[in-house]
Amino acid sequence: MDYATFYRRSIDDREAFWAEQARLIDWERPWDQVCDNSNPPFTRWFVGGRTNLCHNAVDRHLAARAQQNALIFVSTETGTERIYSYAELHREVQTMAATLQSLGVKQGDRVLLYLPMIPEAAFAMLACTRIGALHSVVFGGFASVSLASRIDDAEPTVIVSADAGSRGGKVVPYKPLLDEAIRLAEHKPAKVLMIDRGLSPFERVAGRDEAYADWRERHRQAQVPCAWVDATHPSYTLYTSGTTGKPKGVQRDTGGYAVALASSMKHIFLGNPGETYFSTSDIGWVVGHSYIIYGPLIAGMATIMYEGLPIRPDAAIWWSLVEKYKVTSMFSAPTAVRVLKKQDPAALKKHDLSSLRALFLAGEPLDEPTAQWIAESLGKPIIDNYWQTETGWPILTICNGIEPAPSKFGSPGKAVYGYDVQLVDESTGQELTGANQKGVVVIKGPLPPGCMQTVWRDDARFVKTYWSSIPGQQVYSTFDWGIRDEDGYFFILGRTDDVINVAGHRLGTREIEESISSHPAVAEVAVVGVADQLKGQVAMAFAVLKDPSVAATPEAALKLEGAIMKLVDEQLGAVARPARVRFVGVLPKTRSGKLLRRAIQAVCEQRDPGDLTTIEDPTALQQIKDLVQG
Ligand code: AMP
Repeated sequence: MDYATFYRRSIDDREAFWAEQARLIDWERPWDQVCDNSNPPFTRWFVGGRTNLCHNAVDRHLAARAQQNALIFVSTETGTERIYSYAELHREVQTMAATLQSLGVKQGDRVLLYLPMIPEAAFAMLACTRIGALHSVVFGGFASVSLASRIDDAEPTVIVSADAGSRGGKVVPYKPLLDEAIRLAEHKPAKVLMIDRGLSPFERVAGRDEAYADWRERHRQAQVPCAWVDATHPSYTLYTSGTTGKPKGVQRDTGGYAVALASSMKHIFLGNPGETYFSTSDIGWVVGHSYIIYGPLIAGMATIMYEGLPIRPDAAIWWSLVEKYKVTSMFSAPTAVRVLKKQDPAALKKHDLSSLRALFLAGEPLDEPTAQWIAESLGKPIIDNYWQTETGWPILTICNGIEPAPSKFGSPGKAVYGYDVQLVDESTGQELTGANQKGVVVIKGPLPPGCMQTVWRDDARFVKTYWSSIPGQQVYSTFDWGIRDEDGYFFILGRTDDVINVAGHRLGTREIEESISSHPAVAEVAVVGVADQLKGQVAMAFAVLKDPSVAATPEAALKLEGAIMKLVDEQLGAVARPARVRFVGVLPKTRSGKLLRRAIQAVCEQRDPGDLTTIEDPTALQQIKDLVQG
């Protein structure tokens, strides 16, 4: 079928279209209504239907592929390689599910996972959805303060964690950060289930901390059936950053998500049962949820879970896995490709990559030199795809599984079926229908299956944040600028809000500002994202000190800068650490006191800061200019 017809049908004949897609998964009970949009923007998909994510990812494959590889775990950090067949995965997930039940987890409860990339993370996610509990995975790179705010928002019954992760051969202890986070949080979990990898000794809190090794032994043969839940039952929450300092819990449903993933595996990611999928992301991010765990397993594929760096032991490690496991689809991020690009190009020629159909990239803008380099080096199609934690699956890409189409450098592609993507004028809300006009990328409701249902426990915030930012229109804002060319290809031009994207990691500048402001020497601070060759963007901080004399000499300034970075590391995690913290006498603000972040960013990127008629003190921007260009 041609893509244009397929796409039009998904919008114009929504119910019939998605009813067809819904047949890609198993249902205990079929739906009564495909799409209930009677209370927008709270769209409910497959109302009346009952299903289970874990059943679709694991159990339903047992009949045909029990002995086939399901989860391939590779850690170049610990030198471990372990393969679980679907039958073994089924066994492990039931053992984990029985353990969680023994620790008091019930349907609807939250289980927070603070884990490195280990198989138990996959078991725990699947165990939660198996019993109808919600998992809330917190990226292992986050530190105590970030973790504490997520614990307080999710209020988990149980936290599953491990002694440590490992990065570049260096052990990164998790337990002390977790203990500190629980101390800081108001909500105290009943139990902490500890997976001891033997990497880092840790203290057990009596009565609270449980050893998974013991429970695993106890529940070796446990039978835990899948709990059939309503299609609209929440499957998980995942925190993401926005304009305010407080992270938002993106809440996802069950049925719509399973359908969207099954459909995207077929139409976008070219995945077939029995083949192998390799996503290099982390389970702490949405790509890890959708395309390490659920998507490939729902499709009956083997999925590779990789702990380690792309260049250790050498830059050929990923390609050696492609060869060894005959990977057919691979998913990574532009930053990883830029890292590989700096290595010996021979690494790409050492292995037989004939199994690979395409490399999918997402998470941040894919610049042309990077795209060109990897396309030429691999000799395979490179498929950019644009989406967000909120949507759970791609908004823009090329759906080669429907109709092969060319990619254009710099563009993630066209609107994906199900998404009525539009561009609107930021100030008037008017739709921009002409080619090559710059506007805010919005989606006209209803959002397709798989997208966020609401902000966890905060319906008002869901409406206010996402559906009320465009004047006169109730449309979903992506908070990205974009243009669309005459062929319908979109180009993403950056965020409209205070979110920055560092190496594909989404960070709120306000969160970083709050952390820096908690340093006793700091009076106020502005954090902006600045273009970076390797990471796409890096965070830059400009701080005003309570007493400027404490950073009067270059040595003193450097020392204070180091102390502030350490504070951010401890509170938020190294992912949020700014590249530099510079000290200024005053920050550029409007006369009404609003920080001129876009002007600061422009100056840092040596661009024209634009209209500055509202600036209170023009010397403020000059100070920053002198610092960064001096
Ligand atoms: P996250 O929720 O962490 O996936 O971050 C989503 C944001 O990352 C989007 O709003 C974009 O700003 C950016 N992004 C994701 N994928 C792409 C892409 N393929 N091209 C450009 N920007 C992207």
